Amino acid sequence: MVGSDEVDAVVIGAGVVGLACALELTRRLDSVVVIEREVGPGREMSSRNSGVIHAGIYYPEDSLKTRLCIEGKQLLYRWCETHDVPHARTGKLIVATSAEDEERLRRLARHAKEVGAGELELLTGAEVAEREPELRCHAALYSPTSGVVDVHELLASFLREVREADGAAVFHTAVEEIRPSRRDWIVRTADTMGRTTEIRTRRVVNAAGLSALDIAEKSGLRRNERPWRLYPCKGSYFALQAGAPPTKHSLIYPLPHGAGLGVHITADLSGARRAGPDAKYIDEIDYTVDESHAERFAEAVARYLPAIRPEHLTPDYAGIRPKLVGPGGGFADFVIATPESQPGVVHLIGIESPGLTASLAIGANVSKVIG
Ligand SMILES: Cc1cc2nc3c(=O)[nH]c(=O)nc-3n(C[C@H](O)[C@H](O)[C@H](O)COP(=O)(O)OP(=O)(O)OC[C@H]3O[C@@H](n4cnc5c(N)ncnc54)[C@H](O)[C@@H]3O)c2cc1C
Repeated sequence: MVGSDEVDAVVIGAGVVGLACALELTRRLDSVVVIEREVGPGREMSSRNSGVIHAGIYYPEDSLKTRLCIEGKQLLYRWCETHDVPHARTGKLIVATSAEDEERLRRLARHAKEVGAGELELLTGAEVAEREPELRCHAALYSPTSGVVDVHELLASFLREVREADGAAVFHTAVEEIRPSRRDWIVRTADTMGRTTEIRTRRVVNAAGLSALDIAEKSGLRRNERPWRLYPCKGSYFALQAGAPPTKHSLIYPLPHGAGLGVHITADLSGARRAGPDAKYIDEIDYTVDESHAERFAEAVARYLPAIRPEHLTPDYAGIRPKLVGPGGGFADFVIATPESQPGVVHLIGIESPGLTASLAIGANVSKVIG
């Protein structure tokens, strides 16, 4: 069966970023529809992360990651306050486990101040020991503006607001093709019953996360206009059991080494603690958490929490980052692409961390550039 429709904007993907884009677009357009292939919102990256509201301290000064994280953090806190989304400004400790790392901490504190991510407090090892008797480190930074959000409640609030603003979200429906038609775009979708629909629209936002490059290809974007490659990078989490050494801070991070921010400890709003994520480049999408990695995780955490043991850890969940650089690659920024050959289309590529924090700022940016 083929149905047809006409709307002002189609957003592909009901993750936190797609919904934030839809929210912004509903403020100025009459008809916005979000198309999502899963049964509900945020089933991929958006519910498979640390749930941390980042301060924006790690990325280069002139990057989108820095700008949108800092803007997004403020928007997100305001959103949570005004929409009753459970969250907490918990603050975060970043610990230096060696003398060399201590110098990196100082550089990070200077950088955070320069980019406007806030003043970080430098603590000596003794000061940390007073606050956190089980932690061992040479020094630490305390970031007061970092926090934690209930991602499921956040997604629900975004979706509710989109619908209240007369936007629509359609689940169990995948985008299969995007093709130009005079000044518009035709987006062809198929639902799980095999029914296809063609939607005519002036604007398309590709917020398909890990599948964003597939969508770019399906839209007919020329090869020279899509120079990117995505390297899926898996991050697993282990839950800390009741017997694990106690910690008071909700967020305890080592200094980043390699592809992720380092295996950290987070406590969610219910107080449940997790260790993770690690960073492992993969060829196939697979969300299982390998129990046998408990030892490796315990080793990583033991660098700053020496009493942790593999028996304190049980497999929890995993998320997969759409990285724009492979193993050993350097920094890669978010891509918000508005190809010349595709007026009215925005492709969001490589929206890994801190995409949750930045989501509302990305939405505002997309609404501005899409026309
Ligand atoms: C391990 C890990 C930890 C992280 N920790 C943090 C953190 O603590 N703080 C932070 O700020 N950020 C964090 N992030 C990043 C954050 O989770 C992401 O940036 C954010 O969730 C991206 O949202 P999204 O909407 O772009 O992607 P997604 O949530 O993945 O949404 C994309 C959606 O598109 C849908 N889709 C794909 N193809 C199609 C199609 N053809 N048709 C219809 N729908 C389609 C998918 O089903 C999916 O629902 C983390 C990420 C990972 C992986």
